[in-house]
Amino acid sequence: MNAIILTHNHINAAAKATARDMAVKGVKRAYPIPRGGVPAAYAIQRHYPALEVVDSPVLADCYIDDLIDSGATKARYEDKPFFALYTKHETPGWIVFPWEGSIEGSAEDVGTRLLQFIGEDPTREGLLETPARYLKAWKEWTSGYGRNAEEVLKVEFADGGEDYDQMVLIDPISFFSHCEHHLTPIFGTVHMAYIPNGKIAGLSKFARLVEVFARRLQVQERLTTQIASTIDEVLSPLGVGVVIRARHLCMESRGAKAFGTETTTIALRGCLKNEDAARAEFMSIIKGR
Ligand code: ZN
Repeated sequence: MNAIILTHNHINAAAKATARDMAVKGVKRAYPIPRGGVPAAYAIQRHYPALEVVDSPVLADCYIDDLIDSGATKARYEDKPFFALYTKHETPGWIVFPWEGSIEGSAEDVGTRLLQFIGEDPTREGLLETPARYLKAWKEWTSGYGRNAEEVLKVEFADGGEDYDQMVLIDPISFFSHCEHHLTPIFGTVHMAYIPNGKIAGLSKFARLVEVFARRLQVQERLTTQIASTIDEVLSPLGVGVVIRARHLCMESRGAKAFGTETTTIALRGCLKNEDAARAEFMSIIKGR
């Protein structure tokens, strides 16, 4: 992760520049946006003593925040001038302010806020370590980022394997992933086959290939296509077939509550796509598995 950890010196310099800007614009009463706007406002006030920090937007003639991130917050406070120490597009990456402690501290805040949002008390005994555990789990669930799928499937020439020209079936490979729309689990099995054209890969590599793509935020269709396309590109086989059957917690536990529903997606390449007989053979093997 590209993170910028700001020191108090950085903040002081940014506060000084913002104070100058505010003085030029003639604003005098600032409402700090909760919560990062509060330390930002006091840092600015040190360089602009005439500035009054007010506790209601109605009393303010301007707003102060620590960071303009997506711009969503700023859009809610459009009626008065808006000042921030940092703007995301000028300083890309994950920005950590001194009052957030560390990258982990700033990210753990997300977990704490979530607990508050659902009506829990983040200070109760059982939840004290939850934001830290939550982050650690998410790191593991998304460990496929930054891993190269093509590297994982590096070609090997097994003894005698070069001459093998029939279908190789790798099935089933269980996986866990997360839906990118709700951040909820997707889990199921991948069934795959390829017909080699001189290049084969060790069987365990296919399981690792699935991991690289599954351990990211996904939609099942894309996961299926990514697996098929990587096998197709790296091994240049005569044909590739990938079938995924999976359950989506977002679909089963909320909204339509389609409990127990399985979603099937299929990606075919080469002769498994274009030749009726090969496709029929693959589909009949996969059927009922
Ligand atoms: Zn979803």
